[in-house]
Amino acid sequence: MSLDTSTGRSYSFDRVFLDGAWVSPSTDDVFDVRSPHDGRAVGSAPIASESDVDRAVAAARHAFDEGPWPQMTVAERIAALRPFVEAYATRTAELATLVTAEMGSPATFSEPAHGLGPLLLMQATLGFAESYPWTERRGTSMLVREPAGVVGIITPWNVPQVTIVAKLLPALIAGCAVVVKPAPETPLDAMLLAELLADADLPPGVVAVLPGATPAGLRLVEHPDVDRIAFTGSADVGRVIAATCGRRLARCSLELGGKSAAIVCEDASLERTVAGLRFSSFLNNGQACVAQSRILAPRSRYDEVVQALAEAADGFVVGDPSAKSTDIGPLVSARQRDRVRGYIDVGVAEGATLAAGGSDDIEGLADGQYVRPTVFRDVDNSMRIAREEIFGPVIVVIPYDDVDDAVRIANDSPYGLGGSVWTKDRQQGLAIARRVRTGMFGINSFAPEFGVPFGGFKASGIGREYGPEAFDEYVEMKSVYGVPAGASEATGENA
Ligand code: NAD
Repeated sequence: MSLDTSTGRSYSFDRVFLDGAWVSPSTDDVFDVRSPHDGRAVGSAPIASESDVDRAVAAARHAFDEGPWPQMTVAERIAALRPFVEAYATRTAELATLVTAEMGSPATFSEPAHGLGPLLLMQATLGFAESYPWTERRGTSMLVREPAGVVGIITPWNVPQVTIVAKLLPALIAGCAVVVKPAPETPLDAMLLAELLADADLPPGVVAVLPGATPAGLRLVEHPDVDRIAFTGSADVGRVIAATCGRRLARCSLELGGKSAAIVCEDASLERTVAGLRFSSFLNNGQACVAQSRILAPRSRYDEVVQALAEAADGFVVGDPSAKSTDIGPLVSARQRDRVRGYIDVGVAEGATLAAGGSDDIEGLADGQYVRPTVFRDVDNSMRIAREEIFGPVIVVIPYDDVDDAVRIANDSPYGLGGSVWTKDRQQGLAIARRVRTGMFGINSFAPEFGVPFGGFKASGIGREYGPEAFDEYVEMKSVYGVPAGASEATGENA
């Protein structure tokens, strides 16, 4: 793999960004980031310690309690953030290339998902802020939505940019001060983001970016001066975070895992369905919270659906993620590869049948963190491979008897993030969409849009991102009674 070195720069960082400055971290520990394709060095970043978190939180607290940021109007904050978003627009290709190098997302997916997508989300968010009801008059009262305070942002490696900016921008627009802790696997793109934020010249303490491991994350969640945690990651860690926030009654929003069901209807076009699932089930090498990883097929069409999906899996080009021809790259790490291969072995042991793939090496790619695109048939929804999030290029195909049975199986999951239905009858598709208990659902595709909320039911999380609703997570509502008629709305609002 070769990085786009048109900038001729190195991605080795030795300082962290906090309190408006690049400062030396408290230890010499570093993340040594290596390509999961071939082990080549990609760059390095400091591992922030608990004391670095304390410094960043103290600066954020000061910026929020004493600084100008929360006192500025929303329009002023938007104006301060616009140059940052414009600068981001010039770096999307570089960010996408860097994310591919760090975690193996295929270049053709990285460009829209890890570069352009975050930019479009931020641009949309700036627009939503203009019509968000920061203040409302209700009779003689005024409802004011005030900034929530100091926000700790903790994110995963699989969509590293979008999960940060989906929190960062609404929090900053709302007037919060934020401390970002990206995932250990992908600290470099976060540091590039930190550079753009540093150039934006926001008041000191308003933003900090601290690459760190679990201790830094734990410290951020436990810190008494952090008012709210915005987290994306696994349900297991989400539970720990929610419990800690619960103990100190801090607010938290959680974007967690999924085990989304794609319901293939009797009338579905096999060709269109498989073309759609080829993307929606295996995107980002299957390392996507919204991957359609359970395929529900009518018994009458079970064999043909399995066969078409197996052919699609066998037909993927697997290899160097920087090559434009690659469909599936390596998984993020040896640990993740072993975990996913372990699930394939579990599936076989549970009695499911491999229709494509398996847990053995791919010829010529044994040195990288690769897993063969895998399709299981003869799967029962009670099997672990149907209930747990595998987070790799592995799907299961489950037979159903009728639509009621399909909806029952789709809902028989601890998760409730996404789902889809594949049918020629969109009206029937909508009726099924309304019966499946998930936060998002697609008819003949699964393509999240930035104008509507993103998030899940059940163990898939608490809260929503995207759309104007994203701001709800970063405000506290204050009711002010007895506001005299004709009092300037501007006195009560910061819009
Ligand atoms: P993870 O839960 O292991 O880690 C996520 C982040 O939490 C990392 O920054 C990690 O350092 C930090 N962390 C770990 N333990 C912590 C603790 N005890 N306290 C505080 N912070 C801690 O998840 P991951 O492996 O990085 O990401 C994959 C998971 O993320 C999958 O489950 C996936 O479904 C989920 N995800 C969800 C969404 C969504 O929007 N719903 C989007 C992307 C990924």
